Amino acid sequence: MLNKLIANMLPYMPKKLVWVFSKRYIAGESMEEGLLASKLLNEKGIEVTVDILGEFITRLDEAEKNRDEYLEVIERFTSENVKGNFSIKPTMFGLLLDKEVCYNLLREVVQFAAQKDSFIRIDMEDSQCVDIELDIFRRLRKEFPKHVGLVLQAYLRRTESDLVALNDLNNANYPISFRLCKGIYVEPENIAFKEYEEVRKHFLKDLKYMFENKMYVGIATHDKYLVEESMKMIGEMNIPKNMYEFQMLYGVTPELRQLIVDNGHKMRVYVPFGEKWFNYSTRRLKENPKMAQHIIKALFIR
Ligand code: FAD
Repeated sequence: MLNKLIANMLPYMPKKLVWVFSKRYIAGESMEEGLLASKLLNEKGIEVTVDILGEFITRLDEAEKNRDEYLEVIERFTSENVKGNFSIKPTMFGLLLDKEVCYNLLREVVQFAAQKDSFIRIDMEDSQCVDIELDIFRRLRKEFPKHVGLVLQAYLRRTESDLVALNDLNNANYPISFRLCKGIYVEPENIAFKEYEEVRKHFLKDLKYMFENKMYVGIATHDKYLVEESMKMIGEMNIPKNMYEFQMLYGVTPELRQLIVDNGHKMRVYVPFGEKWFNYSTRRLKENPKMAQHIIKALFIR
C-alpha cells in the first residue's frame, strides 16, 4: 500500500528528490558518466551492456535522434576499449509507430556495431511489442548472426513456444544469444505467470532448454535462488564458460554480484545513462510498485 502510494507520487516529486532515489540505479545523465561507470566496472573484471535511456517515443523524429546518439556512444565506447556491448529498447526507435522505420534504424546501429566487432542486445519490452521484436530480431540475426541478440522473459506464457520456434536460427558456428530475465512489465494473468514460484520454475525450464540446445545465455537475475540453481545446472550439464554469463542491473545486489565473480563466472552489468532518467525512473517505479521498497531502503540505509 505504502509502496504503491510512493510510486504514484514520484512523478509529482521534485526532480532532485527523485534523483536521490534513482542515482544508485543510473550511471548519470551524460555519456561521460556512463563511460566512467563502465570503466570502473571493467576494472573490477566486470563487463557492461550500455543503455541510453529513452523508450516509447511518440514522434518519429525522436527515433532518428536516438539512432544518432547510439552511433556516437558506440563510436566512443569502442574507441576507448570499454569491455562491453550495447542494449537497445526498440520503442525508442519507433517500434510502436512504424515498424519498418524502427527496423531500418536498428539495422543501421547493428551494422555499425558489427563494423566495430561489437554487439547489440535487443531488450524485450511489454507484451504488445513481442511479436514485432521477434520479427525484427529474426531479420537482423540472418544478416548479422554474431552481432545481435534478444531478451526473453520467463514470465510470459508464450516464451517456451517462442524459444522452440527461434531454435531454427541457432547454429554451432554462431550460437543464438539470449538474455533470459523474469520480465519487468505488469501484464495480465492470461499473458504472464503471476506466481513468484511459477516464474522461477519457468526461468529454469527456459534456461535448461537454452543450454540443451547450445544457445548462449545471459542469465539476468538478482534472485539468489535462481543464481544458485543456474550454477548447479551449469555444473551438472558441464556448460563451457564461453556459453553463458550472468547479468545484473547497475547498483543492484553488488554483494551477490561479487560472489558470482569470485566464483569465476563471467558477469555483465547493465549500465543505463542519459537525460531521460526522470521519466524512466518514475515510469518504471509506477509499473512496479514493489521497487518502491528498494527506494525506501536506498533512502534510509546508507
Ligand atoms: P526479483 O525476485 O525481482 O529480485 C530478487 C532480489 O533482487 C530482490 O529480492 C532484491 O533483493 C533484489 N532486487 C531486484 N531488483 C532490485 C532493484 N531494482 N533494486 C534493488 N534490489 C533489487 N526485464 C524486461 O522485461 N526486459 C528486459 O529487456 C530486461 N532486461 C534486463 C537486463 C538485466 C541485466 C537484468 C538484470 C534485468 C533485466 N530485466 C528486464 C528486468 C527483469 O525482468 C526483472 O524484472 C528484474 O531483474 C528483477 O527480477 P529478479 O530476477 O532480479 O528477481
